Amino acid sequence: MKMSYDPNNIFAKILRGEIPCNKHDECDHTLAFFDIAPQAKTHILVITKGAYSDMADFSANASSGEQAAFITAIGRAAKLAGLEEGGYRIISNTGKDSHQEVPHLHMHILGGEPIGPLRAS
Ligand code: AMP
Repeated sequence: MKMSYDPNNIFAKILRGEIPCNKHDECDHTLAFFDIAPQAKTHILVITKGAYSDMADFSANASSGEQAAFITAIGRAAKLAGLEEGGYRIISNTGKDSHQEVPHLHMHILGGEPIGPLRAS
């Protein structure tokens, strides 16, 4: 069963300005900032300003404008960070098997160096 949105999660606090972030980019529907514990030379998180807990929630319930803005913001954030030439990986953990730690929709953008296969063997 899907969890309901928890407004006390850390990304909701960033959106409310209650805790700081290292901001990278922003639009009406999204905010991008650098991950506090980077897993690659460049590690950016793109989050929705709307209260969606994960991709399942967002894909089912967000407006088409929010969904388009999120996809556009991911590409824009990667380009702004200079990742287009070398390439990058995007990951959004969703649900109990994914190891999602923060229950607010976010896309990881990883790059700036070769980051290896999708899963370590
Ligand atoms: P996930 O496991 O997909 O939910 O990823 C959550 C990510 O949020 C992890 O990569 C954390 O390092 C990152 N994170 C947690 N708190 C913060 C914060 N205050 N600022 C930036 N990134 C954070």
